[in-house]
Amino acid sequence: MNELPSKNFLYLTGMRILLVEDEAAIAGFVKEGLEEEGFAVDVAGNGRQGLDMAMNNLDEYDIFLLDWMLPGLSGIEICRSIRKENNQVPIIFLTAKDTVDDTVFGLESGANDYLKKPFAFEELLARIRVLLRNKTGEQNIFTAGDILMDTEVHQVTNNGQPVELTQKEFALLEYLLRNKGKVCRRTRIIEKIWDIHFEKDTSVIDVFINALRKKLDSKEKESFIQTIRGVGYRVNDEQ
Ligand code: CA
Repeated sequence: MNELPSKNFLYLTGMRILLVEDEAAIAGFVKEGLEEEGFAVDVAGNGRQGLDMAMNNLDEYDIFLLDWMLPGLSGIEICRSIRKENNQVPIIFLTAKDTVDDTVFGLESGANDYLKKPFAFEELLARIRVLLRNKTGEQNIFTAGDILMDTEVHQVTNNGQPVELTQKEFALLEYLLRNKGKVCRRTRIIEKIWDIHFEKDTSVIDVFINALRKKLDSKEKESFIQTIRGVGYRVNDEQ
């Protein structure tokens, strides 16, 4: 297996993507690749389903990947519907249409970028990162007490000591740190870190919260993750 060095990549986890693609092979490989990068990915296999999923969860998605030619509704129509709702979430078209006129038409419909099939997964990933980095204002360092997360090099340290986290642990911690001082609701955490097919059994969060506490809490102090009973969790600076 050819292992790509991932250290220098910008990781943006706690991000949810809707992929609308009718070619199962492409949908499968894009979803799998993005999930390995820590994104939560929902897939719609036709235009109508894609539009429904987009419209029903408009505020949940951080980026839309739309195939152009779809059964039912085209990607262009989905894109227009999203923009009509005054939603400026980044949209990338994935399509075999590649003439200049088509590109202009695609971008004029409100998309941010355009990727010609067949494409390399790394190129898609690079474009997603650029769009999301613009969206998140390039902040890549998050802290709470002695804990420091650098999303650009995908590293967490506690008191200067590196801490090994799984992909999901990292995504959960990033979400909590991005929202430092605020209460993160359990339902919201599930929506952001796990995908739409995940059973709405939020008890899985406890497992990951416990893992983070075990790895990052110091014995003398209270946990850096505060439990808000029946609601969720909050990370504060004072530990
Ligand atoms: Ca298609």
